[in-house]
Amino acid sequence: MALDITTFSNIINNELTSTAQTRHSINPANRQPNPEVPVSTAEDLDRAVTAARQAFRPWSRASFEERRKSLRAFAEAIQANADTLAQLLTQEQGKPLSQSHQELGMAVEWAQSLPTLDIPETVVVNTEDRQVIQRYTPIGVCGAIVPWNFPVLLAVGKIVPSVYTGNTVIVKPSPYTPYCGLKLGELAAKCFPPGVVQVLSGGDDLGPMITEHAGIDKISFTGSSVTGRRVMASCAKTLKRVTLELGGNDPCIICEDVDIDAVIPKIGILSFLCSSQICMMIKRLYVHEKIYDAFREKLVQFVQALKVGDGTEPDVFFGPVQNGMQYDKAKNLFASLSSEGLNAVLGGSIPESKGYFIPPTIIDNPPETSRVVQEEPFAPILPLMKWSDEDEVLARANDSDMGLGASVWTRDMVRGRRMADQLEAGSVWVNAHFEVSWNAPFGGHKSSGIGTEWGVNGLTQYCNSQTLHLIKSA
Ligand code: NAD
Repeated sequence: MALDITTFSNIINNELTSTAQTRHSINPANRQPNPEVPVSTAEDLDRAVTAARQAFRPWSRASFEERRKSLRAFAEAIQANADTLAQLLTQEQGKPLSQSHQELGMAVEWAQSLPTLDIPETVVVNTEDRQVIQRYTPIGVCGAIVPWNFPVLLAVGKIVPSVYTGNTVIVKPSPYTPYCGLKLGELAAKCFPPGVVQVLSGGDDLGPMITEHAGIDKISFTGSSVTGRRVMASCAKTLKRVTLELGGNDPCIICEDVDIDAVIPKIGILSFLCSSQICMMIKRLYVHEKIYDAFREKLVQFVQALKVGDGTEPDVFFGPVQNGMQYDKAKNLFASLSSEGLNAVLGGSIPESKGYFIPPTIIDNPPETSRVVQEEPFAPILPLMKWSDEDEVLARANDSDMGLGASVWTRDMVRGRRMADQLEAGSVWVNAHFEVSWNAPFGGHKSSGIGTEWGVNGLTQYCNSQTLHLIKSA
């Protein structure tokens, strides 16, 4: 099916439905309005929950093969519309078209691959008179709450595991980026029975309505740590299962033995991709003092050659930040550079522009206590810091409330493994950062989250654990 990307509706029980009120977000590259989208009410949500509960029983009893068939159709539908969706993604999110295509490619891969994983069933006791089996059963209706930085991949990354494991799902995109999420719902309506995948867009009150709703059994939330705490408190009232994928302030430690020229392009990209609006970007860069000056100079050279502009223009690497709230937060952080007496070796100020553009900025050796080190900027500003002692740099890297990702870069794999073993984060890399895969569980330590998504471990989090005791005599 060809997608119309000029009109947008909710998808409830496989029907396109409108709402009395509508709203729109804006294109961050030029601050022009994007099309109108529904503003869902409590009644819209009730209708979706009723449909999801009705769909749950037959869907949870369908075989894995039947569910795989629908998921294959869904993956094919996304693939067939990838060009249109990538264009829409750039229009709503601001990321360069090449990065939108990468996000669509990953979403298709996730949708094709996650359903190839088998969910384990473990025989824990097997004797003459009894068998005890641990297995996983679906939970019920899932609420999928998605942020604005990866509106496609993170929606698909919640839809696929929830329905593959036998649940039904109601997706809520971010009010800043509702467009691709609604279109994913339209595609899903052609692939799944009514009520299995539904998408509702709304204002700021829709998220709390979902987390409060007694007819929803599990929430998978990706967003900030501040909101994650609210989500968990709200879910506690109905004892919903909850997975939280939250913010990060990832450290990256560069040892003195690296090949600087080979590493610089990787570090440059892994610090600034999507204008640094990725939970797992490098956000604190620790460089050994023996190579610090040369590294800083080459990193500045590399990053300043990357083009800033509208994501639809060719060769742009830095699109705008996604929304006015994020832009204002970044301006506030940039103001701390002068009030804290910090030295920007690249960028350092935000000139007026027609969109939410922020020039890439690198800060030279700020103190650990400075805001740019302590906070998650979610904007293209990177603190570069010196270190000399291994234990000391590991302590600095771990001295954070966050624990999403962390990396060590060295040619000495024994040293790399030794340092990696001491890093407190859900994903730890040696000579890489932000490598994620559909078959590897992903999640945060400390305030970066609870639980995991993706991989077999992620799939089981959309399930209840059930222990079957089969006593052979009656
Ligand atoms: P956010 O927390 O503001 O919003 C995330 C989603 O939650 C949106 O859909 C929003 O409408 C909804 N929401 C807001 N208040 C709610 C409430 N009280 N109850 C229920 N839902 C509510 O986050 P954001 O600004 O959209 O995203 C940026 C943040 O997300 C960053 O901190 C980033 O690190 C984090 N993030 C984490 C991951 C991860 O996997 N760990 C991935 C991407 C982004």
